[in-house]
Amino acid sequence: MVAEDGPGPLIGVLDLQGDVREHLSALHDVGRASRRVKLPADLAGLCGLVVPGGESTTLSMLLDSTGLFDAIEARLGAGSLPVLGTCAGLILVARQVLGGRADQRSFGVLDAVVRRNGYGRQAQSFEADLDLGPGEGAVLPAVFIRAPLIVSVGTGVEVLARLDGAPVLVRQGSVVASAFHPELTPDRRVHRLFADLCGAGE
Ligand code: GLN
Repeated sequence: MVAEDGPGPLIGVLDLQGDVREHLSALHDVGRASRRVKLPADLAGLCGLVVPGGESTTLSMLLDSTGLFDAIEARLGAGSLPVLGTCAGLILVARQVLGGRADQRSFGVLDAVVRRNGYGRQAQSFEADLDLGPGEGAVLPAVFIRAPLIVSVGTGVEVLARLDGAPVLVRQGSVVASAFHPELTPDRRVHRLFADLCGAGE
């Protein structure tokens, strides 16, 4: 059902840990072929990359040990790889991470400060309906699981949705990030937005 290495420009899904299958299936739903990314060679020719949720500390370690951190950083630095970071993926794209491990790395391509587990112990997991603003249709159902809190964003960051005043869906150029898990609900607007940013590949 999930198109891997199918025809057309491929969108990669980082496959080290976390909810990979759900992202592959969400990309399929918006008509995009996808590829699992486990090694630097898997980045070849991709027109975009999804960094799923999971545990950002573990993901950071695995990115290092596979050589993927440097390979992805190089592609992001060259501006040739749109990226969607969800939950732990948001932490991995942010410029500054609060409450992380000292050796935890992030790509720093989103001008945002995020706090790991920023929604606190009382609300480690919850659901909320997000208002995307006038003309953007129905509310977007969103699942938050030990979600990072976006503490602040730079002026170049567009806030697409907020929850209790804090940004939870943001975009900076070809970087899209959410504090929640858009792959866990049937609403595909976040994946469609990202797919539209992904061009025809290298
Ligand atoms: N709390 C996790 C972290 O710090 C993120 C949780 C998630 O991705 N669902 O990496």
